[in-house]
Amino acid sequence: MRATNPVFSGLPTTIFTTMSALAVEHQAINLGQGFPDDEGPDDLRALAAKGLIEGPNQYPPMMGLPTLREAVATANHRFHGLDVDWRTEVLVTSGATEALADCLLALLAPGDEAIVIEPAYDSYRPIIEAAGATPVSVALEAPHWSLPVEKLKAAFTSKTKLIILNNPMNPTGKVFHRDELQLIADLVIEHDCYAVCDEVYEHLVFSGARHIPLMAFPGMYERCARIGSAGKTFSLTGWKVGYITAGTALMDAIGKTHQFVTFTTVPALQKAIAMGLGKEDAYFEKLASSLEAKRDLLAAGLRRAGFDVMTADGTYFLNVDFTALGYNEPDTEFCRRITKEAGVAAIPLSAFYGDSENAPRNLIRFCFCKKDEILEEAIARLERFARGKAA
Ligand code: PMP
Ligand code: GLN
Repeated sequence: MRATNPVFSGLPTTIFTTMSALAVEHQAINLGQGFPDDEGPDDLRALAAKGLIEGPNQYPPMMGLPTLREAVATANHRFHGLDVDWRTEVLVTSGATEALADCLLALLAPGDEAIVIEPAYDSYRPIIEAAGATPVSVALEAPHWSLPVEKLKAAFTSKTKLIILNNPMNPTGKVFHRDELQLIADLVIEHDCYAVCDEVYEHLVFSGARHIPLMAFPGMYERCARIGSAGKTFSLTGWKVGYITAGTALMDAIGKTHQFVTFTTVPALQKAIAMGLGKEDAYFEKLASSLEAKRDLLAAGLRRAGFDVMTADGTYFLNVDFTALGYNEPDTEFCRRITKEAGVAAIPLSAFYGDSENAPRNLIRFCFCKKDEILEEAIARLERFARGKAA
């Protein structure tokens, strides 16, 4: 038998699937894979259900239902002051995962380089490589996840076609500051390249931090493809509805890629998400404030258990240094250990690095978008586990 594509067949199953399976096997509380444990807004689900029954259920337009494209353009203006033409500059996708693939396949050609800021979401590298391009890593510096300016500058070469910027950032919880974004914008313009902006956590921002899309910086509108996800904004991760905002030149190429990746997305879900994006400010404020309270609940509990807890200003995630508990083993081992011995699953940060040799091995990620009683039980289990080690 001839070999399959080594980019994909050489990869293990994703760490999210692996840790979720281990959590089920050991009946552990799953604070690994990032998904909320509620069902999402009732009104959106009712509208989607009505749409499934009443139709239409045939192919919607390739770029997405006009009602959702208009809602995405309106939300871009409402939340970020961006003026977007919904007819030519918005595309609906089957999740941000498809949106990322569309953008990377549309923009990268063999021989190009793509800068990836690590720790990085795991779908970026394989798609870059499948496009025949080379990922170039720039690692943020723990524990404050600071941007190494000189290393970032040095990563840009004549071959650089784009940078992927995940902001707010999974797994770090970092929300990039205005001056960091300006620096990235300056480099993108100086080297005449593009930015694929993974902004799926745009509404999950805390502690008074503010999310600013790179696309909003002067000279950046035509160079950015900005990606959103209804999964995160409406706690409906299984729906897989995403959207891309990009200037017409980029969107032309991205739309042509999308037409051969999925072509369209379930129309009833698109209609419901259009309604969701029009929700009053209170919905978006409550989404962020309730997650912020959960972050604080989990952070305080993890600190009590003895972990060294890192700052997180956005996303679903908190990271901790577990060596403070007296364990001196790789993060992957420690995640397996707490899944089995404490009954709480987490994700090892080394999974977010292309080369695990250069990855930190002392950090793990916990997801806090869970019911308070689940978080409290997880904390109690981790406290018992930590006391066992101390005893
Ligand atoms: N990018 C990042 C940084 C993510 O955390 C996720 C969530 N899983 C995605 C993209 C994919 O989003 P979606 O579920 O909409 O495909
Ligand atoms: N984005 C989710 C996380 O980081 C996982 C999505 C997936 O399982 N592919 O946990």
